Amino acid sequence: TATIIDGKAIAADLRARVAEGVAAFRQSAGRVPGLAVVLVGEDPASAVYVRSKGRATREAGMESIEHRLPADTDTETLLALVRSLNADPAVDGILVQLPLPKPVDTQAVLLAIDPDKDVDGFHPVNAGRLATGMPGFVPCTPLGCVMMLKTVHPDLTGMDAVVVGRSNIVGKPMAQLLIAESCTVTVAHSRTRDLPAKVRAADVVIAAVGIPALVKGDWIRPGATVIDVGINRTEAGLVGDVDYAAASQVAGAITPVPGGVGPMTIACLLSNTLDSARRRG
Ligand code: NAD
Repeated sequence: TATIIDGKAIAADLRARVAEGVAAFRQSAGRVPGLAVVLVGEDPASAVYVRSKGRATREAGMESIEHRLPADTDTETLLALVRSLNADPAVDGILVQLPLPKPVDTQAVLLAIDPDKDVDGFHPVNAGRLATGMPGFVPCTPLGCVMMLKTVHPDLTGMDAVVVGRSNIVGKPMAQLLIAESCTVTVAHSRTRDLPAKVRAADVVIAAVGIPALVKGDWIRPGATVIDVGINRTEAGLVGDVDYAAASQVAGAITPVPGGVGPMTIACLLSNTLDSARRRG
């Protein structure tokens, strides 16, 4: 059976390294890195994410600057807030929790974030930097996936990878990162023909779809490494996009849900924020 890739342990390790980096930065710069989080409205899942990001930020020794705004906040007000955070030297990272309420122009708000404070890596400037090999911020979830992959395969050169899902926040940046690691990358999505065959051909499978147990055990090539990004709330609890029970009989290594990709995402956010502070000085 497969080796379990322990996202919790890998994330704890990264968070400890970030905390050390923060302490050293504090010594040399005479300030602590600051992460501003903007939450609009009362979405319960978003509130949970924002709370855990705030807690993790403080545990790493950084300042968490939280802006909670009512659900009827308009685009102009949000743009003004983002501009003031862009200009604030105590703020190294700006994160606007999505989804924003319907009437808000989400695109305009994300575009207003200074790309050099965009620790989520969602700004098109950072997407372009990733695509062209320039330094910039990489979205936290795919960044965490690569770190987990590298615990199994320190060198990914020449491996066949399939990314199932083509979203801007997971699938596409994941594909870019794997190309940069010299994998041969297939990007599959809702219109892909014969998805099982695409997955069977892969040494590395990344599932980022949002459908419980879409990827079956008999799609997995024996010995392959499987990274399951999916977080699906079902009656049976939280499950991924991969049929874990079956896939873990065939795979060489696999991430569990929960306890896999999720914890790495927040750790990578902290890491991006520390990087931003170091660049800023
Ligand atoms: P999304 O809805 O934006 O994108 C889903 C992608 O899946 C689309 O590109 C679509 O083409 C593809 N798809 C849909 N149906 C398909 C099918 N039948 N076969 C193949 N591909 C299909 O979702 P997202 O934001 O990329 O998130 C994907 C999953 O990852 C969700 O479950 C989400 O909750 C989870 N997620 C987890 C983390 C984390 O920290 N662990 C972070 C972000 C997203």
